[in-house]
Amino acid sequence: MHFEFANRVKNLPPYLFAAIDKMKQETLSRGVDLIDLSIGDPDIATPRHIVNAMKTAVEKPLHHRYPSYEGMFSYREAVADWYKRRFSVSLDPQKEVLSLIGSKEGIGHIPLAFVNPGDVVLVPSPGYPVYPVATLFAGGECHFMPLLEENSFLPDFSVIPEAALRKAKLMFINYPNNPTSAVAHAGFYKDAITLAKKYNIIICHDAAYSEIYYDGKRPMSYLELEGASEVGVEFHSLSKTYNMTGWRIGFVAGNSEILAGLGKVKTNLDSGVFQAVQEAAITALKTDDEELSAIRNVYQARKDTLYEGLKKSGFHLIKPEATFYLWAKVPPQFDSSGFVAQILERAAVLATPGNGFGKPGEGYVRFALTVSVERIKEAVDRINKAL
Ligand SMILES: *Cc1c(COP(=O)(O)O)cnc(C)c1O
Repeated sequence: MHFEFANRVKNLPPYLFAAIDKMKQETLSRGVDLIDLSIGDPDIATPRHIVNAMKTAVEKPLHHRYPSYEGMFSYREAVADWYKRRFSVSLDPQKEVLSLIGSKEGIGHIPLAFVNPGDVVLVPSPGYPVYPVATLFAGGECHFMPLLEENSFLPDFSVIPEAALRKAKLMFINYPNNPTSAVAHAGFYKDAITLAKKYNIIICHDAAYSEIYYDGKRPMSYLELEGASEVGVEFHSLSKTYNMTGWRIGFVAGNSEILAGLGKVKTNLDSGVFQAVQEAAITALKTDDEELSAIRNVYQARKDTLYEGLKKSGFHLIKPEATFYLWAKVPPQFDSSGFVAQILERAAVLATPGNGFGKPGEGYVRFALTVSVERIKEAVDRINKAL
């Protein structure tokens, strides 16, 4: 028998990390001591008090039943309290917060609620690959907004063709940004809101990295801006903030009509987040800032080590203000893939080629700060010797 994939799967963009994955497997199978700086997944454990809250919650039979798709009211209240404390933003937990099975789930589903075949979605490039794929699955067309170094890795709205703006239903933006580590400020968000109002576009701001920041400079929330929730929503994740990637819980906050649209899709496809996980997440959202500072300090030490180390070697680097990534230009004799192959082969260090996040990422490489300072020092030494 032959089972033919549907066009939406056949037409997926080529998976640019496939060649790298293969090289990684080959390297590991040779027993080489690989330093893997390609993984956007914290190596630090979930804080103890959150694990303990889960242990207690999982014992309660009440939590063993189907959860509601929109999330427990107590969880949504905890989200609203966190927004108030962290950003001074007031949210109605009943209508302006929705639980997600990780923010990837919500990002992946939202185009299904608002995008018809032929509609345009504005997508940053380089960017998180879920934005274009979710667009294509909904039958939409991506208009890519290049994130260029000369524009501080912010999209330049003035170069988007009028025709694309007229057909646009939705725009994804993501700050602090993966992969470039750039942060956005009020002026940029204001411009985005003005554009969205003019052309009736839904803004989907992905703030997964808002709590992984450096030098005490706390990134702002999109929802802090006036008019933000008239045109948009903000996706958040507990994954990066509390080292909870495996737990699968996030949320989206903002415009209640937009959330209702996403909710319609979700009620028909999923049955929400395990309530014990939601209870643990309530505990997580109440974590005091000292504990989170300790996590940030770990990344800060790693970031400083990698940044200073590669800078000494002559690399052109973007100094991260946030996220646990370092975005660097590859040396001029290489392209992204060639450089990644070279340091994998000659230094057993794995990084992610920038072009894997979209064409404008060509010429860059992303290093993830998800290994210890000692391993990062070793990686820098090895890269120096290999080049
Ligand atoms: C990690 C990440 C997410 C989401 O992670 P979840 O675990 O699904 O909450 C969303 N956006 C970006 C840009 C990410 O890097």
